[in-house]
Amino acid sequence: MARLSSERLKALDTAHHLHPFTDYKALGEEGSRIITEADGIYIQDAEGNRMLDAMAGLWCVNLGYGRQELVDAATAQLQQLPYYNNFFKTTHPPAVELAETLCRLAPKHMNRVFFTGSGSEANDTVVRMVRHYWALKGKPEKQWIIARENAYHGSTLAGMSLGGMAAMHGQGGPAVPAITHVRQPYWFTEGRDMSPDAFGQACADAIEERILELGEDKVAAFIAEPVQGAGGAIIPPQSYWPAVKKMLAKYDILLVADEVICGFGRLGEWFGSEHYGLEPDLMPVAKGLSSGYLPIGGVLVGDRVAQTLIEDGGEFFHGFTYSGHPTCAAVALKNLQLMEAEGVVEHVRDEVGPYLAQRWKELEQHPLVGEARSLGLIGALEIVADKAAGKRFDKTLGVGNLCRDICFDTGLVMRSVGDTMVISPPLVITKAQIDELVGLATAALDETA
Ligand code: PLP
Repeated sequence: MARLSSERLKALDTAHHLHPFTDYKALGEEGSRIITEADGIYIQDAEGNRMLDAMAGLWCVNLGYGRQELVDAATAQLQQLPYYNNFFKTTHPPAVELAETLCRLAPKHMNRVFFTGSGSEANDTVVRMVRHYWALKGKPEKQWIIARENAYHGSTLAGMSLGGMAAMHGQGGPAVPAITHVRQPYWFTEGRDMSPDAFGQACADAIEERILELGEDKVAAFIAEPVQGAGGAIIPPQSYWPAVKKMLAKYDILLVADEVICGFGRLGEWFGSEHYGLEPDLMPVAKGLSSGYLPIGGVLVGDRVAQTLIEDGGEFFHGFTYSGHPTCAAVALKNLQLMEAEGVVEHVRDEVGPYLAQRWKELEQHPLVGEARSLGLIGALEIVADKAAGKRFDKTLGVGNLCRDICFDTGLVMRSVGDTMVISPPLVITKAQIDELVGLATAALDETA
């Protein structure tokens, strides 16, 4: 329960609180919705409205809200050792046990982890680690990192620079040097003049062209999410990843798979890389690592990079006060243990993922929906003005935001990325709750039309 009235909280919020990714003037006019409690896959606001949270917070509350085991793990650790660091030669049991568990769950060739406080810090770590690696290999000119347009990799300077969102690059730059962006494998918006597979190959070719422009001996790494999340739940054509993987091997370029959203069961495997048969050199993780209960992230490091760092690197001058924070690590450890014990990944792969795919596809019958796609428990709806031509509404109409607001008012949290509606529900969602989600989404689309 909130101590202050909803009205008072809204007024104080507007007066003092600068929210992330928010137009402050617009917020001042409209006021925030104050979320006060949550259980399972539902959240509730200060006025008592209950909503099905089809975004799992921000793609993170994978085990759902209200898990007492996670509260107990945090409480016990806070009592025993609330904080200590992992600098120099100290550590503590939660960091060690979490490192071991993560490496056991990760692809076989990943046996080390560097902890961070968030996904953005994980990607900052990636930038430093890949360039350091190549310098240690005697190739300091291998500096360039190729990322993708419309990608999101975080809000720190390096995270923003890896990201390919023009609006972010327009504020607070300049970006970190030697990072470049290539086209994204977003067939619905950019590739419909060819088959999905031809388009996937063309997007892979664009990476190769950029490598050759930069000089193959100048490129350190390629970074991408297995399925692009914040950009609009963009599921690449089947041809994309095999072609990219082959080409990176050809030019000896590291692969960084950003698993901040795709990791921990979202695509029906422990890591999204496994779904596509990737063998990344580095995997930044966060979000679902602790189901969002406490902030923690990390970079899983493959044997090739780890061996060089360890054998030849000397001291790695990098780390955060909260790298491997014991209370966050204890909660993350418990989260992974619960996921294993409850078969959450299998639940997504064998039960609710296929069921969502079937129910979600039905939404393509709706006059506003040009495409309904999903993989595991991530999905998107493309809202269009003209289905036959696949033509979008005029941007200034803000149809996606309208649909999002209608969803909010009618009990569903769905995200809009332009006119693309996105979902990423808690992984513990049931088939009956998927029916409820699809019913609410249909009603919201009807009202938007
Ligand atoms: N990478 C990806 C793919 C993300 O989606 C995000 C956040 O949404 C980040 C990195 C940044 O993570 P954080 O917000 O924990 O810094």
